[in-house]
Amino acid sequence: MSKNTDINTSFMGHPKPLFSLSMTEVWERFSFYGIRPLLVLFMAAAVSSGGLGMSKEDSAAIVGIFGGFLYLATLPGGWLADNWLGQKKAVFIGAIIIAFGHLSIGLSMFSEIMFFLGLALIVIGTGLFKTCSSVMVGMLYKQDDARRDSGFTIFYMGINIGAFIAPLITGIVQKEYGWHLGFGIGGLGMLLCLAIFYFKTIKDFEEFRDKVGLEQDYDKPMVENKNVLKVIMCSVIAILAFIVFIVVLGHYGVIDLSPASLAKKMVFVIAICTTIYFLYLYFFSHLNRDEKKNLIVFVILFFAAAFFWSTFEQKPTSFNLFAQDFTDRVIFGWEIPVVWFSSLNPLFIIIFAPIISMIWILLLKKNIELSSMSKFGLGVFGAGVGFGIMFLASKVVLASDGGLVSPLYLIIALLCLTLGELCLSPVGLSIMTKIAPNVIKNQVMGLWFVASSLGNIIAGLIGGGVSADNIEHLPNLFGQCMWALFGTAIVLFFLRKPIYKMLAH
Ligand code: GLU
Ligand code: ASP
Repeated sequence: MSKNTDINTSFMGHPKPLFSLSMTEVWERFSFYGIRPLLVLFMAAAVSSGGLGMSKEDSAAIVGIFGGFLYLATLPGGWLADNWLGQKKAVFIGAIIIAFGHLSIGLSMFSEIMFFLGLALIVIGTGLFKTCSSVMVGMLYKQDDARRDSGFTIFYMGINIGAFIAPLITGIVQKEYGWHLGFGIGGLGMLLCLAIFYFKTIKDFEEFRDKVGLEQDYDKPMVENKNVLKVIMCSVIAILAFIVFIVVLGHYGVIDLSPASLAKKMVFVIAICTTIYFLYLYFFSHLNRDEKKNLIVFVILFFAAAFFWSTFEQKPTSFNLFAQDFTDRVIFGWEIPVVWFSSLNPLFIIIFAPIISMIWILLLKKNIELSSMSKFGLGVFGAGVGFGIMFLASKVVLASDGGLVSPLYLIIALLCLTLGELCLSPVGLSIMTKIAPNVIKNQVMGLWFVASSLGNIIAGLIGGGVSADNIEHLPNLFGQCMWALFGTAIVLFFLRKPIYKMLAH
């Protein structure tokens, strides 16, 4: 085997840089998933126990807004990488900004402002980091390389190794040493991420580029945009002016700036802006006929994904609160930290990702190729079953007047959600890098994450309703999600044939 093919297949049959890139992602996601489940508990904890003493609704809405902005920031992040920075610098700068964000949150015992400043820095940094790291995975494969889907599955497992170990560590540290050390652990993860990227990933990419070649340059912008600095300046000024305008309106009572009301407005604005952006892409961005067809499929998958995440991303809110308030967490006299339940979903991903991936391959061998829409339909259906189990669990809580239920409910529900996620999320990532026209690759990846953005905010809005004072509301909360998910799965199954027929013509 020649050296060129070696580097193209030396990591489990995949390009060598996939390993270091996945390790970079492990530590970035470690930092994110380490602090995320702590956020709602910290904000809702009483001031006397070191928390911020906020209501559960507001805390959940803020977690939703944080997740929403975080994934939304991937759009400008993607644009900056396409037009100015290139992937390499974008990932690097993003990682540094995220590390400062963690530092700021870790030091928030001195001032509440440090906490929110930290969240804002993590949002900005992730905007640069997240899109570009995923796009870099896609770059390692030629357009028709059949390994692309399984490459993304490996990358997705990396994400989940980080997401698995993080809550285990931050949960214990927070329980034993308090909130701020718990938050600080995320910062350490980010420093590791930065070191791996700088000393290993860049080297591997350069070697790969020289020996095999990359689909596009990873250290240069995709397009020459001479006006880039002007656009950035104007955008920053416009955003700041908009924020001041909103704050002034809030101050004079013209609009309600409570977290829940803000979250609702955000959903509305993002949905409108995304629709306008789709129309712009379709009519004005000079796409050819095939690219336009791909865009139609993308729009359908986008809405299905947004819907899926709106329920799934209740993990850090309603599922987390359910684990805290209604789940029997004592095993052999020891109480499991609440946030450990957040490690279950990534653990299941690590176990089941290779199995699901093998199932797709086995089906392919039998000449059954499931379309992306069918896979998405299955994903949404799986989440529906998970919510069905939470519906039952909440009925039991209600029947026992707020008593504790077995952790098995949460475990099985999370298993179903995970199987759903595996049918939808890695498949989505892979499709985005494949169907997006080169010049807007990062932006299409950014748009994919906008679905997560919408999902996070809506989940935050729904997920704050889990509290001991309104247990009658619980079965409704989970039941409505279940029915809505089943409905969407049915729509996807019925839509898939006509859509692919239309595409074939
Ligand atoms: N859980 C995955 C991650 O953090 C996917 C999240 C999403 O696309 O919303 O990367
Ligand atoms: N499964 C999620 C993702 O793939 C991780 C999580 O929510 O904990 O990263």
